[in-house]
Amino acid sequence: MSETSLATKWACDGCGVTAGRIDREPVPLPDAWEGSAEGCFCLVCRRQRAADAALEAAPSDSPVDARAKLRRAALIEFEVSRTPDETDGTIARACRTSAAAVTRARRRLQLPDPPPPSPEARAKRRAVASR
Ligand SMILES: [Zn+2]
Repeated sequence: MSETSLATKWACDGCGVTAGRIDREPVPLPDAWEGSAEGCFCLVCRRQRAADAALEAAPSDSPVDARAKLRRAALIEFEVSRTPDETDGTIARACRTSAAAVTRARRRLQLPDPPPPSPEARAKRRAVASR
């Protein structure tokens, strides 16, 4: 990310949610957001888009449960790729799935296991969780 990408307020092009500081100091794009050629998107919309992309790749006559499964798998893969250093349990909670499903996605993507959490990482995770 370049130094020039600062804004007093970021607005998600998907859902319109905004992020910024109360004192209107310019801030970089929030960590969990993504700026792309199609616009910038908050984490919720990024997850949505990852799931939608998986569905678009599926045959349009796929049964509903197959599509639901694809969507869930895409979500887990998105989350595990985004935060590979988080434990499978943490990612599972974010995706409302089981840790085993996250482990399988990690293997599928050939991502390494997360490092053992350091005290700082734990503190950071708490801070993120209480956002
Ligand atoms: Zn959004």
